[in-house]
This record gives sequence, C-alpha cells and structure tokens, in this order.
Amino acid sequence: MDSEKRDDCENQGCQGKRKAPDEKLKTFTEDITLVNRMAQIKHKIMVLSGKGGVGKSTVAVNIAVALALEGKQVGILDVDFHGPSIPTLLHIENPSLKAEGDALLPVDFIEGMKVMSIGFFLPNQDSAVIWRGPMKIGFIKQLLAEVKWGYLDYLIIDFPPGTGDEPLSVAQLIPDADGAIIVTTPQDLSLIDVRKSIDFCRQLNIPVLGVIENMSGLVCPHCEKVVDIFKRGGGEKMAGEMGVPFLGRIPIEPLIVEASDNGKPFIYHYGKTPAAEAFARAIQPILGMTGK
Ligand code: ADP
Repeated sequence: MDSEKRDDCENQGCQGKRKAPDEKLKTFTEDITLVNRMAQIKHKIMVLSGKGGVGKSTVAVNIAVALALEGKQVGILDVDFHGPSIPTLLHIENPSLKAEGDALLPVDFIEGMKVMSIGFFLPNQDSAVIWRGPMKIGFIKQLLAEVKWGYLDYLIIDFPPGTGDEPLSVAQLIPDADGAIIVTTPQDLSLIDVRKSIDFCRQLNIPVLGVIENMSGLVCPHCEKVVDIFKRGGGEKMAGEMGVPFLGRIPIEPLIVEASDNGKPFIYHYGKTPAAEAFARAIQPILGMTGK
C-alpha cells in the first residue's frame, strides 16, 4: 500500500484492519503455547454436574487430593466464573500469583498438587463479575496457554454446573481430554439434569469416565442407621441405563461440610472415614488409566 493510500486508510479509521496480522500472530503463538503446555499433562479430566449444590467442587478437590496422596502430580483448575469455590475449599483466597517470563505459575498446595482458579483474579469474594460468552472463552484459552503447570499426571478441571460455554470451550481447546466425571445426588431432580450432561459429552465426543453419586445416605451418628435423605441408588441406576461407568457413592458426611467451610481438603484430614474410603475407591479407575 503506498503512503498516500495508507494515510487515507488511517483517516477513515481502518487501523483495525492493518493490525490483523499482529492479532493473527498473537493467536497463533497462544495456540502453539497452549498445545505445548497441554502436551506436558498426561490426563485431563473434566468434572461436571447437571445441577449446582450436588458437591461437584467438593468431589473435584477430593479426587485431586486423593490422586496427590497416591504420589501423582496433580493440578486443579477452577473455571467456574460465577461461583469459583476452589479458593474457599482449599483456603487459598487472594494468593500472590507469581510469573515466570510470560507464564503464570499455579499455587502450590500440598505435596504434588497445584491450583489455579478464576477466583484468584476476582477483586473479592463478593464480586459478581458479568462475563459474556466470548470473554469467558478468551479467558479460559488464556489460562490454558499461560499457566505453566509443568509436567502433570492429572489436570482436574472444575466447571460451573450445566452445559454452558465453559465445558464447551475446554472440550474444543483440549480435544484430547480423557473425559468427564459426572457428579449427581441420588434424587430425580438432579438425575434428570445429569442425563443432559451425559448427552452433552456424547455430542462432543467426550468420554464419560463415570458417574459419582454424592450425598448418598447419611449414617445417623446416634443409632448408625442409614437415612437416605436424597434417596439412594439413583445415580447407579441412571449410569446403567445410560451405559456409562459408575464410580461409586459418597455418603453424606457432616465432616465434609466442616472441612469445606474451614478450607481443609476432607480426604487429607479425615482419611479413615467411610466417605474418604469411598473417594479412594472412586479414583481407582482413574489411577488405572493407561498412559498416553
Ligand atoms: P457444587 O460444586 O455442586 O455447587 P459444592 O461442592 O460447593 O457443590 O458443595 C455444596 C455443599 O455441599 C458444600 O457445603 C459441601 O461441603 C457440601 N457437601 C458436598 N458433598 C457432601 C457430602 N458428601 N456430605 C456432606 N456435605 C457435602
């Protein structure tokens, strides 16, 4: 373009067009970095639920801790824009994030476990940030490209409930993800939505690694009788009907609520309880995954 035409172009506000090659290069560089970072992670596992409040984040955290306790290198990534729970569940609110060159470093938690959460970027716990779909997708992509996890055996990704932009973008950005663990409670209200989550995975070719039935029965602390507050067995029945694996039941455990509220990973502190043993059993198929 000769200089006269270029001046004309700038006068008419066409600068955006001239920036296109730079933008393309930036996107290309980000894509390459993302692929390289993900190549260092052996298994990428999404944790999904149809409904909120069924214990998805609790399950994600405890699976990650259980894998780390087995000596694996684990990362947990929280991409729940509207209610990131991981900082609270692990008691790492407002950490001072460190950078290494262009990369952002995840926060070290227990031995073998690192953490990154959208919550680390929000001004405070009470902030409601309004994110449009493309902003969410752009931010997730940036996180996947910029966070330097290093070598990991497992990256556990915690999503908001449902089948929105977040799991869709991760499925597109990490096409070789191993699959999804789907968390439900046993009652029909949750199970109906979980069927949608399974259908979502099928449409996107995400393997369903299994269903976890959480809050499945409460052992009465007084008489030790099991009380099925949210019913029992619905998750297993549904998994059978939908032809997906069942990973097990986690009982209602008041210590889980206490541990979560105190920012302590339950399985780490109460390893001898029936609920912790149920988590340990649920991860066996994940531990048995063959290397890629
Ligand atoms: P979600 O991510 O599905 O919205 P959370 O993981 O935030 O759900 O859990 C919601 C609440 O339920 C938390 O207070 C958590 O401590 C509690 N909770 C989760 N699982 C159990 C369980 N098995 N027994 C008792 N409380 C549980």
